[in-house]
Amino acid sequence: MDRYEIAIIGSGPAGYVGAIKAARAGVPTCIIEKGEFGGVCLNIGCIPTKAMVASAKMLRNARRSSEFSVKIDGAISASLEDFYRRKDRIVEVEKKGLINLVESSGAVIKKGHASFLDNNTIKITSDGSEEIIHAKNIVIATGSKPAALPFLPFDGVKVLSSDNMLNLDKLPKSLLVIGGGYIGCEFASIFSALGTKVTIVEALPHILPNMDGDIAKVLDREFRKEKIEIHTNSKIVGAKISDVVTITLEDGTDISAEMALVSIGRRALIDGLGLENTGVSMLPQGIIKVNNQMRTNVPNIFAVGDVIGNPMLAHVASAECKVAIANALGNHFIMDYSVIPSGVFTYPEIGSVGLTENAARQMGMDVKVGSIQLRKIGISHASGEIIGLAKIVTDAISDKIVGAHIIGERATDLIHEIAAAMFQGMTSSMLGRMIHSHPSFSEVIAEAAQDVSGEAIYETRKAA
Ligand code: FAD
Repeated sequence: MDRYEIAIIGSGPAGYVGAIKAARAGVPTCIIEKGEFGGVCLNIGCIPTKAMVASAKMLRNARRSSEFSVKIDGAISASLEDFYRRKDRIVEVEKKGLINLVESSGAVIKKGHASFLDNNTIKITSDGSEEIIHAKNIVIATGSKPAALPFLPFDGVKVLSSDNMLNLDKLPKSLLVIGGGYIGCEFASIFSALGTKVTIVEALPHILPNMDGDIAKVLDREFRKEKIEIHTNSKIVGAKISDVVTITLEDGTDISAEMALVSIGRRALIDGLGLENTGVSMLPQGIIKVNNQMRTNVPNIFAVGDVIGNPMLAHVASAECKVAIANALGNHFIMDYSVIPSGVFTYPEIGSVGLTENAARQMGMDVKVGSIQLRKIGISHASGEIIGLAKIVTDAISDKIVGAHIIGERATDLIHEIAAAMFQGMTSSMLGRMIHSHPSFSEVIAEAAQDVSGEAIYETRKAA
């Protein structure tokens, strides 16, 4: 029986980062994966969707070429198959590189389904063969799977999960997106660019319900300009499948489409993991319970990433696994969730960090907000990307930045400047005073920061 200091179950952005960290620390490490190496993120999540987002962006830009004084002779065309082909190529190249990186760190990759026999013993099953390994510490990084609607279960043909969306036989003429969160919105943006008639149905008052309302409003407006139909505050009370998928809303409206994407959230993946052989406790929401050191109630077993349900994001998963590995090696690191930037790769794209204005007010905070439209700064016109805004939320008493939200070109990268400022406890006036290069999209950050105290240069204002 092979013996390891650390065994990690699952090779997503939690597991592979942890495996590299542990192996580089010089301890015997193995990582077990039952599916494709790289997990959801690399195979059916972040990377393939962003590859398709990039194709969709190129297509939109090609259609706008005359705005940039560029003539394209002949038809501009794109197909779902070609988008998929590029996406698959990127995933394969990334996967090879990743496997090489993990192996060269010294970690052993084992292929198969892992299940606990006890707190230190794992059975790995693959194609009928079985292997038993022993590990002093075990990290559960098994990720998540799409949540299904009980009255509209996935069939992979008409009722689709995000997994299916990356592998369809044909482009649907019409697509119903049930759930207007970031995954639903990203697919809406991609498929709309390809010519699919998209309808989004969201139960809450606005699409991207966890995002700042002002930001969601801009996306809603831009989606509608693209002829994406949006129903908010809309609960589904019935569904049937014939040649098309038809859902009935609470107000009696029927909506039909050739296919439906159900994107209502994700559930922790613990199927067949044998947790019952360990005594690891779960929370009522079906996620594994851990403390702030990523340790479960069983001292040598850790859990990280989507399976513990803290914002289900790749970079959070990686950060958690770094903490788990450090602690498995004898440290007492605490996981810091205070600043988590995130991106939504729609057109236009969104970057967000910290509290929304609404959430800050609901917490009873005295709030001051600064905001600026992208169209106010020169680079947006030079680049032909004038849609969007940046918004900074501060604590009115201390002026400390508590959140920031940007929609528009490069928002998913720009947000990190404000994340870094928040991490350092900076105030909006400090950020506003910092020189930002001209012309650059980062000027919206300086302007939004200065707008908190009414001092944005590019906002029209009379002398006091
Ligand atoms: P996963 O990536 O889910 O990996 C878990 C791995 O464990 C899987 O490979 C699974 O096969 C394996 N496994 C499970 N059980 C066992 C077992 N018993 N034995 C062996 N192996 C097992 N996040 C972002 O931050 N940015 C984005 O832009 C983004 N886009 C996304 C787009 C889509 C369509 C989706 C679905 C997700 C997206 N996410 C994004 C979320 C991101 O993919 C997840 O947060 C991330 O993959 C979680 O990482 P993880 O390591 O916890 O789990």
